[in-house]
Amino acid sequence: MNAGLFGGTFNPIHNGHLGIIQYVKAQYAFDTIILYPSALPPHKPNRNLASARDRITMVRDAVKNLNGFQVSDIELQRKGPSFTIDTICEFKRIFGSRTRFHLLLGSDAFFDTPSWKQAYHIFKALPVIVMQRGEKTGMAPFASFIDEHVSKGYKLKDNNIFVHDRLYPIRICNVPRIDISSTQIRNRIKAGKSISGLVPEDVKTFIRTKDLYK
Ligand code: ATP
Repeated sequence: MNAGLFGGTFNPIHNGHLGIIQYVKAQYAFDTIILYPSALPPHKPNRNLASARDRITMVRDAVKNLNGFQVSDIELQRKGPSFTIDTICEFKRIFGSRTRFHLLLGSDAFFDTPSWKQAYHIFKALPVIVMQRGEKTGMAPFASFIDEHVSKGYKLKDNNIFVHDRLYPIRICNVPRIDISSTQIRNRIKAGKSISGLVPEDVKTFIRTKDLYK
């Protein structure tokens, strides 16, 4: 089985997340994409964070009518901060060697990896797909970042795949640009503005019912 792993704070999940994962699923023929909300995001403290239970409920609601998506509470089960390397190892242990995993990262998250725990080991553990967010830049910024912060020895192949003889490939995926962020949604709610079209209807109703992000 080919599975994509897509983690995030999902505070809240939005149509940008849903658009890019549906595109990537079709593009790379994943059997499934597993969304896993983080319990205690090490990099996003105190940002009007809804409870983990509410965030995972919204993620479940958002994908319940889509084929081939699962939601995992793997990071909610662990104590302490959620480190991606620990989550990857746990998924691999649970699913076994018959499942081939890819890690899906937005480009902002990818460029943040030097501050992550054992980031190098992530690229030793599984292939990564980087989904370009915002302005499309071409490969040059990725090439210099990878060389400086991931490892020397990556070479560009077929225009958008960085390959290495000891580490897994890093694929840069030209996803459709969708300028939606959770921050924008929280700000709009605080300002009393509508979030229609930015999140699925069920998520919008849940936020309203629970009075989140006011
Ligand atoms: P916040 O605004 O609170 O920082 P966010 O919108 O970036 O949140 P996260 O839950 O942190 O949402 O994102 C999870 C993953 O999805 C990250 O890898 C992020 O880069 C990616 N992502 C989120 N929104 C988009 C988007 N519109 N296009 C491409 N990638 C995205």
